[in-house]
Amino acid sequence: MLDNLQQRIITKARPSAQRLAVGFMALVLLSLLGLDAWQIWTARDHVLREAHTDTNNLARSLAQHAESTVQEADTVLSDLVERVQVDGTGPAQLARLHRLMQTRTHELAQLHGLFLYDKNGNWLATANDVDPQGVNNADREYFQFHRFNRSAAVHIGPVIRSRTNNQLVIPVSRRVDAADGSFAGVVLATLDLEFFNRFYQSFDLDHQGVILLALSNGTVLARRPFDEHVIGTSLARGRVFSELLPNQPAGSSMMPSLIDGVARLFSYKALDKYPLVVEAAQSKDAIYATWYANLARSIVFLLLVGGALSVFGVILIREIQRSLLTEAKLRNAHAALEILAMQDALTGLANRRQLDAALPHEIGRARRSGKPLGLIMIDVDHFKRFNDLYGHPAGDQCLCEVGRAVLDCVGRSTDLVVRYGGEEMLVLLPESDWAGTWLVAEKILHNVRALAIHHAGNDGGLVTVSAGVHVWLPEGGETHPNALVQAADDALYKAKSHGRNRMHPPQQVRHAQSEATL
Ligand code: GH3
Ligand code: MG
Ligand code: MG
Repeated sequence: MLDNLQQRIITKARPSAQRLAVGFMALVLLSLLGLDAWQIWTARDHVLREAHTDTNNLARSLAQHAESTVQEADTVLSDLVERVQVDGTGPAQLARLHRLMQTRTHELAQLHGLFLYDKNGNWLATANDVDPQGVNNADREYFQFHRFNRSAAVHIGPVIRSRTNNQLVIPVSRRVDAADGSFAGVVLATLDLEFFNRFYQSFDLDHQGVILLALSNGTVLARRPFDEHVIGTSLARGRVFSELLPNQPAGSSMMPSLIDGVARLFSYKALDKYPLVVEAAQSKDAIYATWYANLARSIVFLLLVGGALSVFGVILIREIQRSLLTEAKLRNAHAALEILAMQDALTGLANRRQLDAALPHEIGRARRSGKPLGLIMIDVDHFKRFNDLYGHPAGDQCLCEVGRAVLDCVGRSTDLVVRYGGEEMLVLLPESDWAGTWLVAEKILHNVRALAIHHAGNDGGLVTVSAGVHVWLPEGGETHPNALVQAADDALYKAKSHGRNRMHPPQQVRHAQSEATL
């Protein structure tokens, strides 16, 4: 019974305290989650932007490097063309050219060799000490190009294998014109591919990072990581050469590689002066690697915080439940004490304290409503004898039964049955006129007799009660609670003196009195 009440109180209190606690923790957790998600998202963006900047910068430096490398060789070529066209190719001039070529080859690290061919492709002079007699290079791509192309511009061809020492080289060449403008031969500078490989290897890239040098038609000249099979392949179908380069000389894009299929962020740049393109690329995995690590750390952190919050929440809710339970117990105890304080311990009827509180209140109510207030003072007849005859415990038992019988006679919630003194009870009947109050008094007398409690010391041999009836009519003017009780008590005294087992004033007499006054 008490447990049910506690449960009800807890269930009623749950929406306020418990839901608030759960809501607060959910809010904290969601805020943390939101903040973390936002941070992770912005970090991802930041990582990508940084990677763009890095690869763009790298592409720019690579372009500068390629341009200055080719330009240095090209300057030598221009000088050689000028000398051949002005001085001719007599034995003395060729000897001088040979020495010059040697000097330049030693001076420039990228130069693998320098060569001069006549209009038929025969070697006239080289930087090498080997006698060039009898060797013909008319079949080479660069030679064919210059023979059939009058342009004096520099020409860069795909990578070839050197016929002098079998090394892979990039041919850079210019056409030599005769005095009449006809084709007189070719000067060639071969750039050592190893020079580019070494330089590209010196950069700190992720293990899937790529550096690439290609002709503007997409033919690969050099690439890190180095793979001979890739040198000379065409990237013309790739996005950079087919889509991006035609629109913009520099840019970047995340895409899968045409060579190995790995997703990378590519930055490309076309050289300003030469038909060359460089590319720098970081793998997508490497770009996001630290970001993924941070993501994992954030998830672990959130799980830990979430777990801690949940534990904290469970403890908090338990504490709330415990305090609610304690509160309910206290409230119940208080209510029980209050009831005890207002109840008579033996009979369970209201006690004097309750009467003292109720009577002034009922008088006030009667005055406001104009309705009468009925009182019945009851006293057990010859009760002293009952005790003497049957003992005090039997007397107590008798009082309890009489009390219950009296209680059975009142029906309204506002009616009050009070144990007024030892074996005296007072019945308070708000809104009851004479007729109603008499009816109740009569019923009480009848019910007590009907209990048929044996009482050898009383007339008739059964326990009976006497009742003093009084009805207060508010129009009669002011009154005091004690006066009302006194009036009922006076009437009781009369009932006793008239022979007990009766009420006073008796119903028929009062009727007569009322009619006479009317
Ligand atoms: P009557 O009222 O008819 O004039 O006679 P009476 O014998 O009842 O007289 P009185 O009212 O003076 O006596 C009251 C007796 O009731 C005295 C006391 O022994 C007894 N009594 C009072 N309170 C209790 C109680 O709580 N238990 C028991 N057993 N007896 C009580
Ligand atoms: Mg008495
Ligand atoms: Mg008595």
